[in-house]
Amino acid sequence: MTYYEKGVEKYQPEQQDPVTARKIEALKGALKDELVILGHHYQRDNVIRYADIRGDSLILSRKAAEMKKKHVVFCGVYFMAECADILSAEDQKVYLPDLQAGCSMADMADREAVEAAWEHLTSLSDATIIPVTYINSSADIKAFVGKHGGIVCTSSNAPKIFDWAMEKGDKILFFPDRYLGLNTALSKGISREEIRILDTLPDRSGIKKARVFLWNGYCSVHKYFEAEHVHALRERFPDIRIVVHGECKDEVVRESDHFGSTSTIIDLISASPKGSTWGVGTEEHLVRRLQRQYPDKTVMSLSEPGFQCATMSMITPGSLLQVLEEIRAGRNDHRIRVQNEIKSYAKTALIRMLTL
Ligand code: SF4
Repeated sequence: MTYYEKGVEKYQPEQQDPVTARKIEALKGALKDELVILGHHYQRDNVIRYADIRGDSLILSRKAAEMKKKHVVFCGVYFMAECADILSAEDQKVYLPDLQAGCSMADMADREAVEAAWEHLTSLSDATIIPVTYINSSADIKAFVGKHGGIVCTSSNAPKIFDWAMEKGDKILFFPDRYLGLNTALSKGISREEIRILDTLPDRSGIKKARVFLWNGYCSVHKYFEAEHVHALRERFPDIRIVVHGECKDEVVRESDHFGSTSTIIDLISASPKGSTWGVGTEEHLVRRLQRQYPDKTVMSLSEPGFQCATMSMITPGSLLQVLEEIRAGRNDHRIRVQNEIKSYAKTALIRMLTL
């Protein structure tokens, strides 16, 4: 039986090794005056339970800036820990429990390719182009944006950031996620003819016509959701509401009732009346958590099976424990340190966003 038919699949919590759990709790207690653990919504259940603060990229990047704790352990992916390091004070240290936990989308925009595209676009046009990077990008890309008068956005504030950029300039160069850029531009009334995906670099007339240039990146989780998933759920559950993440394809967003960040998804489901039925297009750990959190509502993944982010899942109770033991022993093996010259420009782009 599929969980379309059952409504909600029985959730099987991830196993928790009691010895590891006891050690983590003991170290959290011992380090409590100088430690904060941040957890992204896509983390495993057996990891996020230790997070002092849960959130999406925007909330966690704000919290990282505000926290005065000496040690910040980021249960998330590489670019998130970089953001925390960029925004944290000199005497704070940021750690990522698994240094291999990157983000495939962030890796799709490297500085050299972005510089080449920028050079091409600006050499063939007198228009003012504002670079905007999704927070899911490397510190190096954020530094590029900061250096060229641009800004960072998250899936929560992308529409507001587009307004800011359009007011400041004539055109936007957005990276790395083509879908978040496309969905946001369309929601702002920018026509498809004025949006150019940079699968190839446009000529002078292509540059002139476009108002938004989109880097050709995508999320390797959200790309799997299809419009057919929405149609199938609507057929089975005529009253269903569909909410999807802004990283989903534009045809999925078009067929859905709402799109936005993980916080948008959580807030909509939380505020909906008892008995509501929701189809959710985002990473599976969050969908399953919402199923458990709202037993009086029916929450299901847009597709079966759901899709998990492989790199978010790399953070485990074992890797978290290892980092805490290292901190206790005064070691920095999993510390994330952004180089100073990159940090300064990247911070400019992040602060522009945070002060808007
Ligand atoms: S869910 Fe997608 S965008 Fe988020 S970390 Fe994983 S690959 Fe990157």
